[in-house]
Amino acid sequence: MPADVNTDLLIVGAGPTGLYAAYYAGFRGLRVAVVDSLPELGGQITAMYPEKAILDVAGFPTVKGRDLVAGLVAQAATGDPAYFLERTALTLEHGEETVVVGLDDGTRITAKAALITAGIGKFSPRPLPAGQEWLGRGMEFFVPSFEPYVGKDVVIVGGGDSAFDWALHLEPVAASVTLVHRRDAFRAHQRTVDQVRATTVDLVTKVQVTRFVGNGTLSAVEITVDGEEPVVRPAQAVVAALGFVADLGALQTWGLETDKRHVLVNSAMRTNLARVFAAGDITEYPGKVRLIAVGFGEAATAVNNAAVVIDPAAHVFPGHSSEGG
Ligand SMILES: Cc1cc2nc3c(=O)[nH]c(=O)nc-3n(C[C@H](O)[C@H](O)[C@H](O)COP(=O)(O)OP(=O)(O)OC[C@H]3O[C@@H](n4cnc5c(N)ncnc54)[C@H](O)[C@@H]3O)c2cc1C
Repeated sequence: MPADVNTDLLIVGAGPTGLYAAYYAGFRGLRVAVVDSLPELGGQITAMYPEKAILDVAGFPTVKGRDLVAGLVAQAATGDPAYFLERTALTLEHGEETVVVGLDDGTRITAKAALITAGIGKFSPRPLPAGQEWLGRGMEFFVPSFEPYVGKDVVIVGGGDSAFDWALHLEPVAASVTLVHRRDAFRAHQRTVDQVRATTVDLVTKVQVTRFVGNGTLSAVEITVDGEEPVVRPAQAVVAALGFVADLGALQTWGLETDKRHVLVNSAMRTNLARVFAAGDITEYPGKVRLIAVGFGEAATAVNNAAVVIDPAAHVFPGHSSEGG
């Protein structure tokens, strides 16, 4: 039901940055609302790699994507956020001392400040032309669970982090894993490439998947080197990990200063618009690094600075958190 909602801080995007910001807003005693286009919390982690072991979040030598999100959601719950899921933020207007964000279902959220943690915006996977009609019938773009790959011959297409992460995770459960890439250089983290090389994963480079073979059920793919005869490999499952196209969508019409689909912020995570902050993958400034850990730090900076905009008597530094303190 569309509604008129009043809050202190509106967060656009419920990925790891937005969830941590929701916790932090509660810690600062702010009322908080969080909007996300997706049906589930967790942003890229939930949508693309819930089963992956994440190794670079402070305090966790290793943490599964879905467990990190569960922890973030539990931590955010202490701030009692109002979630508006499966709703996209479309418009932003400025009131006298407020910002008003309109959602695609007609809901209008009036807030004293807004924090944009919209990551890479709406993301759509880059297609694998040869396999488009096999989508959902043997070809997938993401690997939300390893179970469907148990005992199968899996072909992973791509040379980036996702392709290598999934090769590493599927190798112990699949009958075989072949990673196919059209170049012989990889964009993936060198450490992951080295780890994959030490497994049974077959790395086939300078080739393309040119045809899917099967009679209703996928049984093989045809792999082609330019100018040579195609080679047929058994495959009951293909993961097309060719990256994704990001689209900031409606946010581009809000008057935000941007640089190549990222929102420019200063060291307080302020955008060029009054009362509007940004944090996480969506931000840009010299030296920016797009990692979950960085998003957490930016969320804390953004919320603490927003707290002063919301209540000029507040201090940017919140004091240290402690039980009952
Ligand atoms: C395969 C893969 C593996 C990765 N591995 C690691 C890793 O090991 N370690 C690491 O640190 N990082 C990793 N990353 C990067 C990490 O996932 C991102 O840095 C992180 O998700 C950024 O968090 P965020 O909250 O800023 O944005 P996101 O996670 O992108 O969340 C943004 C949310 O905003 C929502 N949204 C966007 N626009 C709107 C709108 N207009 N209205 C409503 N909602 C909107 C989106 O639906 C999304 O849920 C990996 C990324 C991928 C793809």
